[in-house]
Amino acid sequence: MSDAGVAGPSATRVRAVLATHNKHKLEEFAAIIAEHLQQVELVEYDGPEPVEDGITFAENALIKARAAAAHTGLLALADDSGICVDVLGGAPGVFSARWSGRHGDDAGNLELLLAQLADVPDRHRGAHYTCAIALVRPGADGEPGEERTVEGEWDGVLARAPRGANGFGYDPAFVPAGSRLTAAELEPAVKNAQSHRARAFRAMVPALQQLLGG
Ligand code: IMP
Repeated sequence: MSDAGVAGPSATRVRAVLATHNKHKLEEFAAIIAEHLQQVELVEYDGPEPVEDGITFAENALIKARAAAAHTGLLALADDSGICVDVLGGAPGVFSARWSGRHGDDAGNLELLLAQLADVPDRHRGAHYTCAIALVRPGADGEPGEERTVEGEWDGVLARAPRGANGFGYDPAFVPAGSRLTAAELEPAVKNAQSHRARAFRAMVPALQQLLGG
């Protein structure tokens, strides 16, 4: 089924809550939703934050989506993402946002990662971003809801020094496969079309269609 089948003039509007406060991710999600799922009205989550104590991206995304669905009673979407470096055995992974010890310190996280890889030759600088998206539809009258998770990956290598001013997080050092530019040098629309989040979201479309239709 094509993406165009998701929306249409007769489609019923559905409110869905997006369980993130990260403004960069909100923008990326909004752009992706606008392109693929026009009948979904995305609202921002302002309820309590659960402890993200999962050890996989999918677990953490589910923890966030379940909390938002329980608090709002709405269909909830949440993502969890990070960068996985081959030579570090997949780290920072789920610790990407707090790799330097301070949650959300993008500059500190990037600086530490590049310092750790300072002596690693180019041929061993492979990495990928991963994004898991969880979708939770609360059940009626206390019945269990329905849950889906999907993942997207974006392969690349790590540059030796940061370049570019777009994006966020590790983007200034992440050079996607087939590109000479870092993710922070790409136009946002170009990044949004090929990123791990975009890939995860595209994988989510059929599952979301199924939930919306069911
Ligand atoms: P989350 O907010 O718990 O998903 O943590 C995501 C962390 O992974 C962010 O703080 C960034 O450090 C990193 N990350 C995830 N996606 C991206 C991206 O698209 N660009 C750059 N860094 C990202």
